Amino acid sequence: MPKNRSPIWHPFTQHALQDEMTRVVRGNGAYLHTADGRRIIDAISSRWVVTHGHCHPRIVRAIQEQAGKLNQIIFAGHTHDPAEEVAAQLLKFAPPGLEHVFFSDSGSASVEVALKMALGYWHNIGEQRVSIVVMQHSYHGDTIGGMSVGARGVFNEAYGPLLFDVTSVPFPVRGHEQDTLDALELACRNEIPAAFIVEPLILGAGGMLMYPAWVLKEMKRICEASSVLFIADEVMTGWGRTGTLFACEQANITPDIVCYSKGITGGALPLAVTLCRADIFDAHYSRDRTRTFFHSSSYTANPVACAAARANLELWQDPNTRQRVAAIAAMQEKAIEPFRADARFESVRQTGTIAALDLKTSDAGYLADIGPKLQAFFNKRNLLLRPLGNTIYVMPPYCATEADLDEIYAGIWNAADALAERGALRVEKPSASVC
Ligand SMILES: *Cc1c(COP(=O)(O)O)cnc(C)c1O
Repeated sequence: MPKNRSPIWHPFTQHALQDEMTRVVRGNGAYLHTADGRRIIDAISSRWVVTHGHCHPRIVRAIQEQAGKLNQIIFAGHTHDPAEEVAAQLLKFAPPGLEHVFFSDSGSASVEVALKMALGYWHNIGEQRVSIVVMQHSYHGDTIGGMSVGARGVFNEAYGPLLFDVTSVPFPVRGHEQDTLDALELACRNEIPAAFIVEPLILGAGGMLMYPAWVLKEMKRICEASSVLFIADEVMTGWGRTGTLFACEQANITPDIVCYSKGITGGALPLAVTLCRADIFDAHYSRDRTRTFFHSSSYTANPVACAAARANLELWQDPNTRQRVAAIAAMQEKAIEPFRADARFESVRQTGTIAALDLKTSDAGYLADIGPKLQAFFNKRNLLLRPLGNTIYVMPPYCATEADLDEIYAGIWNAADALAERGALRVEKPSASVC
């Protein structure tokens, strides 16, 4: 029997290769405190969810108050203040033209809801449109629908037979954006798809691949011209990550359907929403019960999660929050600058509060050994960084200080030194990179 036969099966974890989990007992702001007395800087916001910092006092208080008042209620046929207030505030903050909010519990679920809304819309208005167009390298979650519209690879190879077919347009590599737009136009015209789903401005799990707002705007225009529903998956990009509250603001577009999750509760509790335009709701609005939107989960709009989201939305009304986002973006821009001249790195890039850079190694790709090696190296230096293959990215909570960032980037610098010493880096001229 293998030594590391863990009773708990951790996500995205190969238990035969990872002997020990970091035991965390407390979170505070940008820091995690471990059982063995270490203080770790959370440089990836606990996988992109913790926006204002761990255990933000206003969010903690909101959770405590709501937990003692009403902590669960079936949401079919019932409603409550936290959900009503979150929905009203979301519709104020979201791009104009979105009029309805559907609650769920995770980013993956919010994507499933978006796809079902799109298919339900066409079904209910009596038009035969069923296919989905996606972007290369996308990630939309690990459920069957989410995997179907996401990149195919080693992560979902075993489940391939369950996944539905989609049409993929290339990622808009810098200088080749027109190829993406042409492919999308062709797909929209020839296939008459139901919807196009895309992560606006940054493809997260695909490797923090960034593309400009004008491409996003053009993609929306192309979809609109063929009445293809435009689904924006802002699960990662929402809540200030790209510098604005939502990424779509930068392209000045209103998607037909949009998904928010991750930072919606400031990272304190699981919650997600799918917002849509009135015509999508209206296509389901009927005295005919067969046109109902058939989707539910036990904890839809859980009151405690909604109270956390309400507190988060209150924080976003405080100008200080946007100032923190701007400050982090400026710090990131400054911190990655020296790496642009470092021959050991390539594709040094930044959008808002997210910075990413690729180590020039022959050992590239998500499953490359370099990922776990780097992770272990950073863990020893009390940094929570989880590279995506040879892509190192920094996505701190907005309470991080300049000193925190200095420590993070010094760690990255040292990792490159250590790898170079072992001859694990390729420092010759880099090949064309994706962004
Ligand atoms: C994280 C993520 C998801 C899935 O969200 P979960 O809450 O992990 O289910 C979907 N889309 C994008 C863009 C994400 O980054």
